[in-house]
Amino acid sequence: WRSCGLVGYPNVGKSTLFNAITQTMMAWVLQKQSAENYPFCTIDPNVTKVAVADPRLDELARIEQSEKTTYGLIEVRDIAGLIKGAAKGAGMGNAFLSHIRGVSAVLHVVRCFADVNVTHVEDQGSLSPVQEYESVLEELLIADLEVASKRLPALRRKAQSPKDTEATRSLPVFEKGLAALEKGEPVRSVLTDDDRDLVPDIPFITAKPTLVVANVDAESAKDGNELSGQLADYCGQRGQRCTVVSAKLEMEACQLREGDSDAFQREYLMSFGLERGEPALMRILRECMDLMDIHYYYTSGQDESRAWFIPKGAKAPEAAAAIHTDFDKKLEKVECWRYEDVMKYGGLAECRKRGRVSTKGRDYVVQTADILEFKTKR
Ligand code: GDP
Repeated sequence: WRSCGLVGYPNVGKSTLFNAITQTMMAWVLQKQSAENYPFCTIDPNVTKVAVADPRLDELARIEQSEKTTYGLIEVRDIAGLIKGAAKGAGMGNAFLSHIRGVSAVLHVVRCFADVNVTHVEDQGSLSPVQEYESVLEELLIADLEVASKRLPALRRKAQSPKDTEATRSLPVFEKGLAALEKGEPVRSVLTDDDRDLVPDIPFITAKPTLVVANVDAESAKDGNELSGQLADYCGQRGQRCTVVSAKLEMEACQLREGDSDAFQREYLMSFGLERGEPALMRILRECMDLMDIHYYYTSGQDESRAWFIPKGAKAPEAAAAIHTDFDKKLEKVECWRYEDVMKYGGLAECRKRGRVSTKGRDYVVQTADILEFKTKR
């Protein structure tokens, strides 16, 4: 549940965005600590784990004087291999399909910059962003229809037997998905939270939560341009999230870092109107977390302050299992600090003195930025 994939036609800026995310986040972490402290593992050039920047965690680590700060990680994949007409021809590359099936959220990158030097989709000269979005969507819809045609007949047969509760439960959700596909709409546009709970692993690509990323020129990084405006309107009418980024600007800004100083990077981003010079990528990664429906709690002590990502709505045992799988069963109760209290009173120990620590049971639904200490049975 922590992997998001960049999808789009060639030459729309996916690799630029991927590299900018990787380098910005890596530089950001190295600024705070040495590399050995960090469990970075680059699996292959198109897959990376990035730390999600978290100023609140930095502040917590500072107050608790932790020796180490460990950020939450999400995986980002640059999924190349989608080309125009792929689904109609020989079918999309198997590698493309298997990679995209493995991610839990999709960043659909659409080209909204004009550059005569960069070839767009070959056979069409240039596509408007809305056409480009629809054309990529169409490829994915066709792939999903193929899945539906393979899976549904068997599922319908199984669902006729009242004993097969699994099939009876999931069939209506599949049928609903198919109906959307047949209308040329992505499955995500019709699925409710309840549907997702019923069939958490629904095998349609277009069911994946998706953020449309309008990649614009540096000059338009702040407010977007006419092209990204068209795309945003189109998405807005369909309840589809859409955001603006300039991959090229983020990449250039990242290269302006000097050692562990990001002063020039921020200054450069600010000169293009970005607030506080914050890389837009940090915002995008936070949006990815939102798409994946995950949030975080902290643990903190002298040795380490750390963020742990968990599904929203997770209760204490599931949160504990993020640390150790066997923690879950042994968990008896959890001590809980509110982040605001820790800031207000100046630390965990101060909060304890003032009685600002609450003890919760296994039923406790963990809240964003809680600071937790799990207590196990003896
Ligand atoms: P990919 O094939 O989707 O991974 O696209 P790339 O990231 O390789 O980008 C293709 C080309 O477009 C490269 O030459 C990039 O430098 C260029 N590019 C990417 N983003 C922008 C942008 O915002 N503005 C301009 N002018 N060029 C860009």
